[in-house]
Amino acid sequence: MIFESFPVGPLACNCTILGDEEAREGIVIDPGDEVGRIHRRLMELGLKLKQILVTHAHIDHVGGALKLKRLTGAPIFLNESDLPLLGMMAAQAAWLGVDTPETSQPDESLKDGLVVGLSEYPAQVLHTPGHTQGSVCLYLASPKLLVAGDTLFAGSIGRTDLPGGNFEQIIESLRFRILALPDETRVLPGHGPATTIGEERMSNPFLQVGRSD
Ligand SMILES: [Zn+2]
Repeated sequence: MIFESFPVGPLACNCTILGDEEAREGIVIDPGDEVGRIHRRLMELGLKLKQILVTHAHIDHVGGALKLKRLTGAPIFLNESDLPLLGMMAAQAAWLGVDTPETSQPDESLKDGLVVGLSEYPAQVLHTPGHTQGSVCLYLASPKLLVAGDTLFAGSIGRTDLPGGNFEQIIESLRFRILALPDETRVLPGHGPATTIGEERMSNPFLQVGRSD
């Protein structure tokens, strides 16, 4: 499996390319910015883009999705509970002092339980509201990989003070959905370094509350 992740844009959102060498198909998760670079990389890798998956509708994750769709024809997937945030793109751009990117309605909702991604390496959608109402994580059972968006970071969790955020809800999402995954699961957060479920279960200060052991 081709697996590349690199930070894009002023907020350094981790954009991920997953590809199947045999089938020559790929997916992109969170093309927040630097779409020319992402597209160039897909061409260098010889991958036909199958899907554009967006973990949530914050500008730094979704900002380049439509541009990438126009270049490749690939459909955009975003959980429908983030449509109100998608509609606030001008306000989000103003918070950052950047130009407002053009966006469009997603082609499909990243609903909980939906299986997306590559035929050979399917990803299951885990709806994990809290950072935003439509935040999702993508879990690939093989290889054990979680693309976590802004729900979980190495040593921290996503902020909940922006519109649509809810602290109790993100803690519930983390405890009941994310910590249910095997310890050896590699976690790729929406920002910053990679980690594992086991590491975060042990040492993430936000995940220690209510631990019974
Ligand atoms: Zn975010």
